Amino acid sequence: MTTSPERPRSHLFYQSRRRRPLLDQARGVYLWDVDGKRYLDGSSGAMVCNIGHSNERVLEAMRRQMEKATFGYRLHFENEAAEKLAEKTAQLAPSGMERAFFVSGGSEAVESGIKLARQYALAKGEALRWKVISRFPSYHGATLGALAVTGYTPMTAPFEAMMRPMPKIPAPRAYLDGLDPDDPATGAHYAEMLERRIVEEGPETVLAFIVEPVGGASTGALVPPAGYMRAVREICTKYGVLLIHDEVMSGGGRTGKFFAGEHWNVDPDILVVSKGFAAGYAPLGAMLAQDHIVDAVLDDGGFIHGYTYAGNPLACAAGLAVIEEIENQGMMANAAKIGALLKERLKGLMNRFPFIGDVRGEGLLLAFELVSDRVTMTPFPASLGLHDKLVEIAYSKGLIIYSRRTRGGYEGDHFLVCPPMIATEAHVDEIMETLTDSLA
Ligand code: PMP
Repeated sequence: MTTSPERPRSHLFYQSRRRRPLLDQARGVYLWDVDGKRYLDGSSGAMVCNIGHSNERVLEAMRRQMEKATFGYRLHFENEAAEKLAEKTAQLAPSGMERAFFVSGGSEAVESGIKLARQYALAKGEALRWKVISRFPSYHGATLGALAVTGYTPMTAPFEAMMRPMPKIPAPRAYLDGLDPDDPATGAHYAEMLERRIVEEGPETVLAFIVEPVGGASTGALVPPAGYMRAVREICTKYGVLLIHDEVMSGGGRTGKFFAGEHWNVDPDILVVSKGFAAGYAPLGAMLAQDHIVDAVLDDGGFIHGYTYAGNPLACAAGLAVIEEIENQGMMANAAKIGALLKERLKGLMNRFPFIGDVRGEGLLLAFELVSDRVTMTPFPASLGLHDKLVEIAYSKGLIIYSRRTRGGYEGDHFLVCPPMIATEAHVDEIMETLTDSLA
């Protein structure tokens, strides 16, 4: 939405010429622009601001850290905030993940995970292993390494000549394939695709499989079918392929568990998290790995990888305070409860709007998909630009939602509805009212 056309030419640029209103303030689940217009943050930014905006206890923790030190270079100093956050993260992490490698965002976390995996293979004398299998569609980050494992053609196409092609298997979108997601045979069916691909590629060349336990932007909150995550774990173990959980979006409590993999009791070898980890208070992410992997790499000459802002004390202080707030305020339980309510209400919209083909997700990681025919799940033509249009209509009415059009293979428009974990029933009412208006 371009407002204030009289604004002077900006010295900023981002992805397009489109200009957005200037942000003034953000509090709780709301944001205000400089013209005083209020927006309900129905997507928590890009599924980032999980605990809501301007949480006073997080701000206070950041102020306290700022008074002491805002930066200490990682190779010169460790810091207490990073130590405490690592300890807390290890308590929340899958078993065996005792240490954290801190970064500034999701792409850096994914890069770190892939590179640690590769160095682990080298340390074990398995130099042939370099392929990282991922899914289509998927999004794992913007940097060239993370992009190579990303299954989203509009973002990868210009750079293909610069990346080594990585194998992709279909994401388990049972709702499109007419399969029952609650039938374990469905999970087995999609997991077999991974096994077949590992065998085809030559297991000795396959380094890792990267997967979002609950899908984010690319699949629109895809919840894996019954048995899938467990079967994937078993297949990876069978072929010595490292399992990487990308919890950049699903981690941090939004699904009702701190890490979404917990819903299936599956422990990955490597796990990456960002976005909700510091919930928009600071650029922060983490890469965690099973202890034996970290030790093998550190003993084999060290991890040849690093970032200037790694373990930044201010970001880590924010991250620690965010986790404490999530725990102390019972936000994960609220995400599960309010998420269930919001999902029911979204499903209710299907009675009124036949063009809603699917509603899915876990906790407050929710999405709905628009189709021209619900029986055949035929998407609307891309030329209609529905994913942009609905977002713009809602935006003009003061509701922010997040959309993606899946491209390559199946094409479709889906929309993420993911308010902060502090959302109440009243916020659900407000979201539903504006959304219903917008869809109408
Ligand atoms: N992985 C996933 C699953 C993501 O959703 C994203 C961001 N949308 C990333 C990685 C990359 O994170 P960032 O934009 O912070 O680099």
